[in-house]
Amino acid sequence: MEYFSRVSPGKKQESLRVKMGSFENKMGQAGDSQQEAFRQRCRSAGLRITPQREAIFQALTGSVEHPTVDTVYQEVRRLMPHISFDTVNRTLNTLCEIGAAFVVPGTDNVRRFDGNLSDHQHFRCIKCKRIVDFHHGPFDNVPVPDVLAGRFIVMRKTVCLEGFCDQCTTNPMDNVTQTTSGNR
Ligand SMILES: [Zn+2]
Ligand SMILES: [Zn+2]
Repeated sequence: MEYFSRVSPGKKQESLRVKMGSFENKMGQAGDSQQEAFRQRCRSAGLRITPQREAIFQALTGSVEHPTVDTVYQEVRRLMPHISFDTVNRTLNTLCEIGAAFVVPGTDNVRRFDGNLSDHQHFRCIKCKRIVDFHHGPFDNVPVPDVLAGRFIVMRKTVCLEGFCDQCTTNPMDNVTQTTSGNR
């Protein structure tokens, strides 16, 4: 598992550090402020705060991997063996609807969820599919271009950089070109 230390220098690192560690360590003790913010959002959306919803939110925020539905399901099931995949899936969708989580843009085929609501951006590795959080202040307020302003309502602005992560840069094209190479 990869942590934030090398991508997020500066004071932001303090708050992000809360999210580090394995799922296991975080379950039941995930950042109190995150959990409180989650409860607030539930209340203002008129949503009941159930143990299932809390466990799912904790599994999400306890991970730095931007987990899939299945990963969250596998984790929550260890605490709640009878919970169904469908419940986890629907709950994650609900969390997105009330703004307590979001789907990382561009991951529509296999959705990857994010419960980190502090300002941050993503780097996505096109080889190993790792999604790494980083924070770069100037990216927080990308201006809305004139062609959109006034005509569209912008709800979220995200910056996602794609390429090869530090673990994949040794031979970045190794797997990517596997099907096309070897003709020499
Ligand atoms: Zn990679
Ligand atoms: Zn993120």
